[in-house]
Amino acid sequence: MRWAALAVAAVMVGIGLSASPVHSQSSGVERLYIFDCGQGHAADQSRWSPGVNVGKPLDISDNCYLIRHARGNLLWDTGVSDDIINMPNGFSGSPGSPVWRRTKTLAAQLAGIGLAPADIRYVAISHTHPDHVGNVELFPQSTLLIQKAEYDWTSSPGKSRIAASHPVEKLEGDHDVFGDGSVMIISTPGHTPGHQSLLVHLPKTGWIILSGDAVHFKDNWDNRRVPANNVDKEQTLTSMQHMADLMKKYNAELWINHDKIQSDQQRHAPEYYE
Ligand SMILES: [Zn+2]
Repeated sequence: MRWAALAVAAVMVGIGLSASPVHSQSSGVERLYIFDCGQGHAADQSRWSPGVNVGKPLDISDNCYLIRHARGNLLWDTGVSDDIINMPNGFSGSPGSPVWRRTKTLAAQLAGIGLAPADIRYVAISHTHPDHVGNVELFPQSTLLIQKAEYDWTSSPGKSRIAASHPVEKLEGDHDVFGDGSVMIISTPGHTPGHQSLLVHLPKTGWIILSGDAVHFKDNWDNRRVPANNVDKEQTLTSMQHMADLMKKYNAELWINHDKIQSDQQRHAPEYYE
């Protein structure tokens, strides 16, 4: 056996191959977990669909996504603050905005799959609204992936929820996170100046787009409705069309962060997608 192995090694060296084990450099994404990062209740859905379903209440999900890649872990969005778990009546920021509750913390859900904050290489946020950046500083060592336009916008006095000391990579447009095309940040401005979405390739599930708040629920996607408080309506519509084009090109599914109906049908951690 030993001689046979040596002979094989000699042949491999002879034809220019390495005899060392082949590493999974091209395996890309290994798993995707969905975490429950808050439950929202809004009194009036038309906050997001001007003139439509006025006065109709809406329950919304708030998901975070953990992507395990051969070259490190990426957390996409961080939800509302874990502190809300201690507020029995929930938390609401401004008048008309949803009341948020938390039944599980992000920290506990990470621990539930065997990860600590220090295990997260990248934290990427779709944008800087509080239901997406609530726990960014749970990860002070993780590199924050954010559009420069969003960082500059949120850094205006009194608005920043990102510590000035936080390591950050300020992006200007699309970004291939691990360099193998399996996790791509896609610039989708409009909801906020530097909003971004995430295009992910899962080996078994296929391609998916994580929406961020480029769209809030399926009915708005189907009818291309733009919430009144988006910073730029035309940019929002252009971003939605760009996402639709990508979905066609990659045969990708759209996973809408705040669409509770869709979210309820998906597997949540500790279950996962491959
Ligand atoms: Zn938002």
